[in-house]
Amino acid sequence: MGRWSVPPDRSEAGSGSEPGHPSVEASNASSPPKTDFAPGAGSWAAHRIWFQQIAEYISDPVFLKDRHGRFVMANEALKRHFSEQDATDIIGRTDLELHPADIAQQFFREEQSLMASDQAMVGHDEFVYLPGGEKQWLSTTKVPLRDENGAVIGLFGIARDITQRKKSELLREGQSKVLEMIAAGMPLADVLSELLVLIEEQLGGIQASILVLDKDGEHLKLAAAPSLPIALRNQLDGLKVGPQNLCCGAAAFRGETVCVADIAQDPFWEAQCEPALDAGLMACTSMPIKSLKGQVFGTLALYFDQISVPSEIQASLMGETARIAAIAIERELAQEKIRFLAENDTLTGLPNRSQLERRMAELIRSNTATKEKFAVVFVDLDRFKAVNDSLGHSAGDRVLKIMADGLADSVRAEDMVARFGGDEFVIVMKGGVDDPASIRPLLDRVQAEVARPVVFDSQTFEVFSSLGIARYPEDGNDVETLLKHADDAMYEAKSFGRNCYRFYSATLAEQDALKLNLLQDLRTGLRDGQFFLEYQPQFDLKSGQMNGVEALVRWDHPLKGRLLPGNFIAAAEDSGLISELGNWVLQEACRQRCSWDKAASDPVVMSVNVSAQQFFGSGLIDKIKEVLGTTGLPPELLELELTESSLIKDPDQCIETMTRLRDMGVQIALDDFGTGYSSLSALCAFPLNKLKIDRAFVQNMDRGSRELVIARAIVSLGHELGMRVIAEGVETESQMGHLKALDCNDVQGFLTGRPMSGPKLEALLEEQHRIGGFH
Ligand code: C2E
Ligand code: CA
Ligand code: CA
Repeated sequence: MGRWSVPPDRSEAGSGSEPGHPSVEASNASSPPKTDFAPGAGSWAAHRIWFQQIAEYISDPVFLKDRHGRFVMANEALKRHFSEQDATDIIGRTDLELHPADIAQQFFREEQSLMASDQAMVGHDEFVYLPGGEKQWLSTTKVPLRDENGAVIGLFGIARDITQRKKSELLREGQSKVLEMIAAGMPLADVLSELLVLIEEQLGGIQASILVLDKDGEHLKLAAAPSLPIALRNQLDGLKVGPQNLCCGAAAFRGETVCVADIAQDPFWEAQCEPALDAGLMACTSMPIKSLKGQVFGTLALYFDQISVPSEIQASLMGETARIAAIAIERELAQEKIRFLAENDTLTGLPNRSQLERRMAELIRSNTATKEKFAVVFVDLDRFKAVNDSLGHSAGDRVLKIMADGLADSVRAEDMVARFGGDEFVIVMKGGVDDPASIRPLLDRVQAEVARPVVFDSQTFEVFSSLGIARYPEDGNDVETLLKHADDAMYEAKSFGRNCYRFYSATLAEQDALKLNLLQDLRTGLRDGQFFLEYQPQFDLKSGQMNGVEALVRWDHPLKGRLLPGNFIAAAEDSGLISELGNWVLQEACRQRCSWDKAASDPVVMSVNVSAQQFFGSGLIDKIKEVLGTTGLPPELLELELTESSLIKDPDQCIETMTRLRDMGVQIALDDFGTGYSSLSALCAFPLNKLKIDRAFVQNMDRGSRELVIARAIVSLGHELGMRVIAEGVETESQMGHLKALDCNDVQGFLTGRPMSGPKLEALLEEQHRIGGFH
């Protein structure tokens, strides 16, 4: 009877009272096990024998335990479970002697409570560790046992090994968790690590890694290897793809699985096997991770703690894992592409506004503590619209791309250039921007780069830029404010005159000071003779003879260099200095015209631009009389160019002044015709000699029939009213052809002559005398 005959502790068992959860240690006696499982009166002995016999037919572990959790009976299957020689070796022992303490105590508590409550526990999932250390999942049923008197004396248990089912359940759960992570856009490294932890848990005795192909297509980057030792990780990171480069390099190279059953003996590993062997990893199998189309994204490798090749199950799990990894990597690549498209300008490839704002926000965050300064520079291309209008949008796009490349080249590596929209760019300059003085050289470089002439379709362009600068943190603490202030400063720069830059300044007083500066500069310029004139020839289309020149003013600014009228005429008008400037131009132009000996007898008219303010200001007539008197220029060789806006300002006074001028013999041309809003019928009231077709119509002639129609209308209108018609801004032979066909009288433009110095124009006149005109 052996241990079965140990007399029961009836007082306790019979009381049916709660045993008070004695600790397992208390019942862990090494000396002859004592059990209170005592089927009395012989009938139990017979039951036990039947029971043992039946139990041996059950393939799942089956056992009986006494009130204190000691095994009193176990079948063969349980013995196998514990790898014991004989099932009787388990008899009399408690879980604490067979399992780790935490698991044993958990069992003890469950059993005591089921016996106390007299309730069965059915199909409960739990796990134990096998002697080899492997985790085994069981579905356990435990039922309290009673003696003849109905008192609980122990329990009956049966446990089914559900490890396989449990593992595949866990695998599915794990895989769907990974897929959810992919769908949620979690970082690729996290997704892949999770995937590898899963395969490592499933297989046991392996360590896994995933390498992904670098952008260069020649190297592998370590993407995840949650368990691999650091030395091996370092060895794998940056591994070159090649037929003999460990397992992964070779698998990526060949596009197929590479198995190395014994690293120590393998020629591919030869000199490089130490990191793996040192970590006790003896074998390696690497499988390429491929897209659905078969493109290799990277490799999945398993490292084994013994010499082996993957079993069928391991190989199939590897395949599953590689497929999920491919989904994750493909998604990451797609996201990268989307991110790039969403954050970069398609035309120039530069970061776009949204990337600019994101990166500025990041910069502000990281600089909040240090208050390290940076500068935001708003760059607006001057007169870019003219490029677009004259060349068409696709050419404009190409010029923009050239500008963008130039800007990117002109800044330092740490700076960022973004396209803000249209012809606006923003540069973020980091470091070395503590004060305006240190930023200036950087700004000069940017402006010089933009101003560099662009040769395009055998034409040369110069584009200038206006820059506005706001600095962090003094001019703004957030993205929006900084951009707005840089933009404000840029507008300030534009109003000061193009091709210059302005720092944002918070107070109006400072802004006024800037305007004052320009005014001061203009005064000094007039006083010190910083202005000079260039002359652009005008030709009669029929005869090919030069019959006029237009005087165009320029400013040699001591600091800003050579400035074009667009930079200062508006400011001169605002400040009232325009009349003074205009008088100087009038004087200088007439003097120059008289100094051209050879043209003395030619009907070459000197055209002078007169702004509305000057025209309506008192003293214009007197000034002209004075100039004609002092220079001796015949009045019919002087022409004033007025814009349409001058006419509509005060038509009556305009007609009066014009009539007086006509009576003096001075000619009058209407400039930029077609861009203003003057009514055509009112036009006949003005004593005009000439209409100048605006550049815009001429430059679009080649492309648009609309412009051609307008030009034709202007020519016939001018002729009907007895005026000459001149086209300005003529740049191509084809424009010239159109104008000839329209019967336009004169042309002026880069095609026939750019604005040039007085002596150069004189040389041109001499040349004309020699050869007799252009054709
Ligand atoms: P505007 O009167 O229409 O002068 C012609 C402008 O067109 C000049 O620009 C000239 O350089 C430019 N141009 C000439 N041919 C071509 C061509 O084939 N293609 C293109 N794209 N442009 C051409 P600039 O010298 O910059 O003068 C700009 C404006 O400044 C003038 O326009 C005129 O309104 C004003 N301006 C120039 N000088 C004076 C002046 O002495 N007094 C006044 N009040 N205004 C002046
Ligand atoms: Ca003009
Ligand atoms: Ca014009």
